Amino acid sequence: MLKIALIAHDKKKLDLAMFVKEWKETFKKCTLYATKTTGKIIEDKIGLPVNKLESGPYGGDLQIGSLVASGEIDFVIFLRDPLTAQPHEPDVSALMRVCDVHNIPLATNLGTAEALVIEIKRKLEG
Ligand code: PGA
Repeated sequence: MLKIALIAHDKKKLDLAMFVKEWKETFKKCTLYATKTTGKIIEDKIGLPVNKLESGPYGGDLQIGSLVASGEIDFVIFLRDPLTAQPHEPDVSALMRVCDVHNIPLATNLGTAEALVIEIKRKLEG
């Protein structure tokens, strides 16, 4: 099972939910992790099971970073809001850094998320 982490800042949560819905058949075959609110939306609106961590501002990004560091996450989709200051910006940076340290593919917008999910689908089929 591929393990995918999903996070969206508040103004990007709808975008992420639509994206997961569009690729539901692919995400269904993966183990999903998400920060609390993002995970709840995916469970409630899309109906996929999600391993939910803390909310981003309460340490959820760092928890996902920790999973990345221990080799438990294969891909990260993190729809950041580039137009709104986040109180937990240092945590956001830490998560992106740890993905770079461990060469874990990280998509931070819908364009790269689409490229990533095509790769995920290819891996699942291969
Ligand atoms: P949330 O956390 O999914 O609990 O909203 C995400 C974030 O804001 O980093």
